[in-house]
Amino acid sequence: MTEEWQAGRLDSDLDGVGFDTLAVRAGQQRSPEGEHSEAIYPTSSYVFRTAADAAARFAGEVPGNVYSRYTNPTVRAFEERIAALEGAEQAVATSSGMSAILAMVMSLCSGGDHVLVSRSVFGSTISLFEKYLKRFGVQVDYVPLADLQAWSAACKPNTKLLFVESPSNPLAELVDIAALAEIAHGKGALLAVDNCFCTPALQQPLKLGADLVMHSATKYIDGQGRSMGGVVAGKAELMKEVVGFLRTAGPTLSPFNAWIFLKGLETLRVRMQAHCASSQQLAEWLEQQPGIEHVYYSGLPSHPQHELAKRQQSGFGAVVSFEVKGGKDAAWRFIDATRVISITTNLGDTKTTIAHPATTSHGRLSPAERASAGIRDNLIRVAVGLEDIVDLKADLARGLAAL
Ligand SMILES: *Cc1c(COP(=O)(O)O)cnc(C)c1O
Repeated sequence: MTEEWQAGRLDSDLDGVGFDTLAVRAGQQRSPEGEHSEAIYPTSSYVFRTAADAAARFAGEVPGNVYSRYTNPTVRAFEERIAALEGAEQAVATSSGMSAILAMVMSLCSGGDHVLVSRSVFGSTISLFEKYLKRFGVQVDYVPLADLQAWSAACKPNTKLLFVESPSNPLAELVDIAALAEIAHGKGALLAVDNCFCTPALQQPLKLGADLVMHSATKYIDGQGRSMGGVVAGKAELMKEVVGFLRTAGPTLSPFNAWIFLKGLETLRVRMQAHCASSQQLAEWLEQQPGIEHVYYSGLPSHPQHELAKRQQSGFGAVVSFEVKGGKDAAWRFIDATRVISITTNLGDTKTTIAHPATTSHGRLSPAERASAGIRDNLIRVAVGLEDIVDLKADLARGLAAL
């Protein structure tokens, strides 16, 4: 039995509610079946009542779905929820984090435009700019993330976009996003932030002045390592272009993955808090171990940008990197001695992962490029999951014993 009052938009009364309420309820539409959880709509196309209805929907004169490359109710629910959490006018979902970055650049930049990218971004992001976008005449330069003067000096009259990941991977460097937004706007450019490592639960770049924010939803938004996806969010005026590119080019999100991410968002903040709490404990503990040379974690007072991290983020994140005493062999012995933690380069999972950046994520860089990125052979990166902290410590102690 179905009742009218059960169906329709459920989030029209959410003005002024808190982050956790938005995370659980924003974007929800209920079908006449009265389902409590969000429905999945696995359909490629939609039926129109009449030919005139079809024409009006295609013309955009009446709202409604036309084709799932354009819109899908489950995907739209995810987009509206993430827009609410990032404080964005609009969001659009993509098939992966990389297609979110691709859509952003393709829709905003033309041949002859200049783009500035922080030096320590995700490897595939660098490949995208270097191997492909440069072929279409987009000029790209790289800037040390934290150095505001260098950003300002690197801007040219044709600089269209500044693109950063803050905090960076794997060394947890930050940039003052509000100050960088001011620099970008002063030069007539846009600032885009890859917010994958913090998620809106810890950092909301749009509220700090950024124009666009993007995510690999594959990481913490899913949170359990199940599916690939991404999202771009920002002002409606800019998003119009991004949406237009995605609808035409096609790397849109599947309804099933959108549903996974909707469910992921509902637990995002409590998961991030737990990830951060364990990371803090592990970072403090590692810093005291004689086998460890240095720990990179912005929650430590020894981190040079600890104060900025406190101001800009509501948590320090869940990536803890450290240098062991010794070189590559010692790092590998440490990694191979762990029994609980998974040896994988992914992050944002309930399962803790461990990786050796110099021979995996940064393995294709030349030794000189690695040195300038600060990636030493004795560096290990741990992306802290949700296992018992005593078990994680015991596992890392196996690594220490193998040094
Ligand atoms: C994983 C990742 C990406 C790419 O996302 P995919 O979903 O793998 O395409 C981009 N940026 C950062 C910071 C990432 O960690």
